[in-house]
Amino acid sequence: MITISDVCKSYGSFQVLTHCSTTVAKGEVVVVCGPSGSGKSTLIKTVNALEPIDSGEISVDGVSVTAKGTNLPKLRSRVGMVFQHFELFPHLSIMENLMLAQIKVLGRSKVEAEKKGLQLLERVGLKEQAYKHPGQLSGGQQQRVAIARALAMDPVVMLFDEPTSALDPEMVNEVLDVMVQLAHEGMTMMCVTHEMGFARKVADRVIFMDAGQIVEDCPKEEFFGDINARSDRAQQFLSKIL
Ligand code: ADP
Ligand code: MG
Repeated sequence: MITISDVCKSYGSFQVLTHCSTTVAKGEVVVVCGPSGSGKSTLIKTVNALEPIDSGEISVDGVSVTAKGTNLPKLRSRVGMVFQHFELFPHLSIMENLMLAQIKVLGRSKVEAEKKGLQLLERVGLKEQAYKHPGQLSGGQQQRVAIARALAMDPVVMLFDEPTSALDPEMVNEVLDVMVQLAHEGMTMMCVTHEMGFARKVADRVIFMDAGQIVEDCPKEEFFGDINARSDRAQQFLSKIL
């Protein structure tokens, strides 16, 4: 579903991604972890072309992200993205947040968009909040709305960039629960997160990045199985968070 081949990217003379390659199969859940500044956000943003790359190739569901002439708005509508900060439109109701791109990008009618919005709010447990504004919701609730908003576009993959790291601890699980449910439903997911409980529960593979490189890319069982068999850099990182 996602193919990342030999991707390099620099900011000026600073190389942020160095020959990164990986694939995510349909229905697979891949967790990306690694120290701050290692390039995780940059890598995940290249998948929907929010960050251009210098060399290499990326494709999503057989469509090149990097080729000239790719219809980026269409591509982005198929790639759901959830960030650390929810980035809901504060002046719109929750329902309007859910409807906007369905109408503007997918051309759905208001009735259709609202129906889909309600279904998704029910799925993330927030049907009662549909006509409130984001400011009236907790951080955990807002992040669940952000997930529902991404799902409203019927994406073929979902990208998450530390979706729980800005939340108060008591709200982390309500967001992870929605992500676990999505994983069980067979969504293809690439998740930057340090929530190793989540990784253990639903990840198929774990990628460990350091200094712009994919240092480890292995099945979860292997990643967590024998920590001593991991690279020195991964061991150091894991010793701090496990
Ligand atoms: P991570 O998500 O793993 O913390 P990032 O992908 O955000 O890492 O950043 C990787 C490195 O690239 C960091 O050193 C960061 O300072 C640098 N970086 C990120 N965005 C930019 C930018 N727009 N311009 C220059 N440097 C950047
Ligand atoms: Mg980041």
